[in-house]
Amino acid sequence: NNMSKTIIITGGAGFIGSHVVREFVNKYPDYHIINLDALTYAGNLENLKDIENKPNYTFVKADIRDAERVNVIFDTYKPDGVIHLAAESHVDRSIADPTAFVMTNVVGTVNLLNAARRVWEGHYEGKKFHHVSTDEVYGTLGAEGLFTEETAYDPHSPYSASKASSDHFVRAYHDTYGLPTVITNCSNNYGPNHFPEKLIPLCINNILNSRPLPIYGDGSNTRDWLFVIDHARAIDLVFHHGKVGESYNVGGFNEWKNIDLVREICRQMDEKLGRPQGTAEQLITFVKDRPGHDLRYAIDATKINKELGYKPSVTFEQGLSITIDWFLNNKEWLENVTSGEYQKYYENQYNK
Ligand code: NAD
Repeated sequence: NNMSKTIIITGGAGFIGSHVVREFVNKYPDYHIINLDALTYAGNLENLKDIENKPNYTFVKADIRDAERVNVIFDTYKPDGVIHLAAESHVDRSIADPTAFVMTNVVGTVNLLNAARRVWEGHYEGKKFHHVSTDEVYGTLGAEGLFTEETAYDPHSPYSASKASSDHFVRAYHDTYGLPTVITNCSNNYGPNHFPEKLIPLCINNILNSRPLPIYGDGSNTRDWLFVIDHARAIDLVFHHGKVGESYNVGGFNEWKNIDLVREICRQMDEKLGRPQGTAEQLITFVKDRPGHDLRYAIDATKINKELGYKPSVTFEQGLSITIDWFLNNKEWLENVTSGEYQKYYENQYNK
């Protein structure tokens, strides 16, 4: 593993990507890590301040929708590996503007597959294209059961349809051209640097500002949550040891109904802010359900556990506590990302 490698990580300025970049830059000093990111509203180089001057790290601002630019970058750096996280990632935004999701998530992925295929020219030893995807491609579960790697794809939102489509293209490039690909399908992530349009940081931010905590429907929708650094560790394992052509589900067997999750955030926030229990809960507000809202996601992570020995490093309570502490200690980060663009989006979304 200590062979020197050049790895392009796409979307490295985003929430999960920044943790993956940090993990690789710090853990593998002989790798050259190229962070390829367009810096959309979700990309933020602040997330990487602590490693930006490391000699094995390079940032390249580029848009994966631009095939020509992607090709030039692959010719310049001749990567041995690609870890692909760049995407439009927010379900509510995909409902408002599905085409943007097709362009980045589908066309952008195919542009990267083409560039890898071209630059590797059939010489695949030591090469890997790792596509990072979501459990949302599997659709929804009833009260029982778990998603396995064999579960049929059944996406319902434009976001999950675009991710499902990109997964199919990645598999097709393996099956058709022999491209050495792996796919990971992970459950919902949370942690430091999480953009505050997503449920957990939205609640933390709104509690800090005494704003309502919007909960879709009756709050019974259930999600499986994984600490973002544990996702980055899983990506490291699968990138290095995952079998080519395979996919791996990533999760921590950690299901929460939205309403229970929000109550747990409220409990920890009241505790950390030194206020009476029940203060934050008064902000809970039920809002009209998201159209096509999937009832339940839950990952069976047996394969990655058995084959690669993967286990999350923190419990949910620990991970949530680390996350809340991070937001309390980084109010400036929160203020920076919640000004301007975000504010406009937020007002459109919740103040209709
Ligand atoms: P994010 O929205 O925080 O970050 C996405 C990053 O991609 C940003 O830095 C953005 O600037 C960049 N990007 C967007 N469009 C681009 C383009 N056209 N060209 C280049 N860069 C572009 O997303 P995230 O939550 O960190 O998710 C990263 C990946 O992991 C996505 O592929 C997502 O589908 C997947 N995933 C996310 C979760 C989750 O819970 N957040 C769970 C499983 C899988």
